[in-house]
Amino acid sequence: MDAAEFRRRGKEMVDYVADYLENIEQRPVYPDLEPGYLRSLIPNEAPAEPETYEEIMKDVERVIMPGITHWHSPYFYAYFPAASSYPAMLADMLCTAIGCIGFSWAASPACTELETVMMDWLGKMLQLPEHFIAGTHGHGGGVIQGTASEATLMSLLAARCKAVRRVQASNSELPEAEIFSKLVAYTSEQAHSSVERAALIGGVMMRKVPTDNSYAVGGDMLKKMVEEDKAAGLIPFYTCKHTFMCYPNNLLRFLFLPGNKENMWMHIDAAYAGSAFICPEFRPLLNGVEYADSFNFNPHKWLLVNFDCSAMWVKKRADIIGAFKFEPLYLKHENQESGLVTDYRHWQIPLGRRFRSLKLWFVFRMYGLSGLQAHIRKQVGLAKEFESLVRADKRFEICAEVIMGLVCFRLKGSNELNQDLLKRITNGREIHLVPCQLSSRFVLRFAICARTTESRHIQQAWHHITQLTFELLQEPNH
Ligand code: PLP
Repeated sequence: MDAAEFRRRGKEMVDYVADYLENIEQRPVYPDLEPGYLRSLIPNEAPAEPETYEEIMKDVERVIMPGITHWHSPYFYAYFPAASSYPAMLADMLCTAIGCIGFSWAASPACTELETVMMDWLGKMLQLPEHFIAGTHGHGGGVIQGTASEATLMSLLAARCKAVRRVQASNSELPEAEIFSKLVAYTSEQAHSSVERAALIGGVMMRKVPTDNSYAVGGDMLKKMVEEDKAAGLIPFYTCKHTFMCYPNNLLRFLFLPGNKENMWMHIDAAYAGSAFICPEFRPLLNGVEYADSFNFNPHKWLLVNFDCSAMWVKKRADIIGAFKFEPLYLKHENQESGLVTDYRHWQIPLGRRFRSLKLWFVFRMYGLSGLQAHIRKQVGLAKEFESLVRADKRFEICAEVIMGLVCFRLKGSNELNQDLLKRITNGREIHLVPCQLSSRFVLRFAICARTTESRHIQQAWHHITQLTFELLQEPNH
């Protein structure tokens, strides 16, 4: 393909994408296929000779589209949103075209410098404490990670390194392996699985702290567990507060603060909920962030920036850079000792990194803070609309306070009844939901996801759910 054909095909592709997104409602949101469906539709070997572009595009509809779960359908209410907007997609095109691998400042200065400034812009939108903002007198700064899971892992590994150095400072004889075996991290029993995985990868113990009726961790319980562990000769070193169920509550309840006395690293993982903190009415839920050593959320969930873009800030740059610095000769550059440049490869696990900040830059400029706030508020309004529909039907109950764009609800009755309802919803393929477990109850999650979801979709989804409920309750065994 030469540049002339690229121009033509590129324009066609933009049309294909716009048509796909404009007409996405007409596609079943959830595919109806058996595992392994794809292998029989394409050859067993890569083609020996070139094929035409037309042939490939024909196969996109024949092979790929039937196997897509349409995350951007307004009838998709599963998991959490995968953010998407046209400015972000265009920025992604440019990122791909530039195709730099910005592991150091010298590897592409704009890639590094735009990221630092965008993370400051974003940090200021969230009114983060000044010590997280790079362009101040503080010692912190922001970095774009691929996912919240990576941010949690990075924070845990940095905390582990810091804890080992601290223990060895007073007992230099103690081998690293012995210290590792005594390190304990804490998170809530409702935490996302990525927190437990981070501990597994980091080779440290992870304790789950029980939550109260509102699914928040009580500081007293955490304090008790920390004291018991210390009495047993263990070393508490890390806590991860999360907003998985989007019930951030008051962070101070979790950051009870013997943490500071214990020198525990405090990481806040607000993967989904973090975007809402750009709205002043939600920002109080983040109070307490000033005590955190690191904070992370995913603009790729709710801030109109396509995957991947996970924003992470650390209070002290040196904590994260110091834990992972490795300097082979071929990655050195003459400016690195100037103190003026950031080499983001020290802030992350992979060496390579994309020019992801372009997506933030395009989205921030084309929506403005007011446009982004309007998006969040609209989606919270839609969640409240769905909540009212559920509350008005006495057969159903709301299972947790609706704070943002997620509604947890269920039919009053057994878990089996709710499992049956979900099975009917999934088989119907008109809308897509996933369940969760809250205090051993099987609960349906209804998350407002697509950017284009409107009130009429919510009404239609509820109509569909109540129709399936009617059919379910007609059955003799119910
Ligand atoms: N942490 C929390 C609190 C989440 O809600 C999620 C996803 O929903 C994750 C982590 C995982 O996000 P990622 O795919 O960015 O690792």
